[in-house]
Amino acid sequence: MAWWHRRREARRLARHPFDPEAWRAVRHAVPLLADLEDFDAERLGPRAWQLLHTKHWVAGDGVEFDASAQLAIAAQACLLTLGWDEQDAQAAFANVHDIILLPDAFHRRVEEMDEAGVVHEYDDERAGETSWRGPVALAIPDIDNSGDYSGYNVIIHEFTHKLDLGNSQDVDGFPPLAAASDVTSREWHRVFTHVWDDLQAHIARDEPTPIDDYAATHPGECFAVCCELFFTAPDQLIEVYPDLYDLLKRYFGQDPLARLQRRQAAGTDRP
Ligand SMILES: [Zn+2]
Repeated sequence: MAWWHRRREARRLARHPFDPEAWRAVRHAVPLLADLEDFDAERLGPRAWQLLHTKHWVAGDGVEFDASAQLAIAAQACLLTLGWDEQDAQAAFANVHDIILLPDAFHRRVEEMDEAGVVHEYDDERAGETSWRGPVALAIPDIDNSGDYSGYNVIIHEFTHKLDLGNSQDVDGFPPLAAASDVTSREWHRVFTHVWDDLQAHIARDEPTPIDDYAATHPGECFAVCCELFFTAPDQLIEVYPDLYDLLKRYFGQDPLARLQRRQAAGTDRP
């Protein structure tokens, strides 16, 4: 990042010092965040705050900014980097410049990946895309459906594409591996190839796929859908693809299943 860019970000942050009360309120309103251990929440809050105040947020037609909603979005994005040190966490979203919030004319399930690996997302007209230096586009109804243990999270999905783009200009299902992680690229390919082949085999046999068949459309979508499940339905993912759960647990340096189990033990089960 250029020095002037860093200075501008530092100035923006200085104007908006971290607000622990705002963070506490957001944390308790979003199930995925409410289940964090306190020390994890203390690490995540300032990272989310930084994403909120150092990226350029754009509101689509009729969308009004709501600071706590934006902080909740930033926190779910930064959940991906929670297990990484500060340097890896900063590097992860260095390619995120603009975050666009769209009203509703946007359905991420209508995505197309072109030959260059750029994900284009269309409704009747093109509404957004996730590309190397492009914006992260999120629709409000999709955001509203994210945050719990439903297996669905548009924020995690789209920011996973950005992680994927950290080592190339293509979405290819192979992100940079954090320095602290013991996951090797060979293991990554082996585990994801097994999942990919299994999905294709189910489709060829005309059987239901173990996870959302959207994962079978492209290796980049496979990675994104698996990350959605890892964070928001870890019990389902570990049941069908235990090796993949283990790989992502080591890659992300986190164990969302332990968080979900604490939630279940406390009696605040999934909705
Ligand atoms: Zn996608």
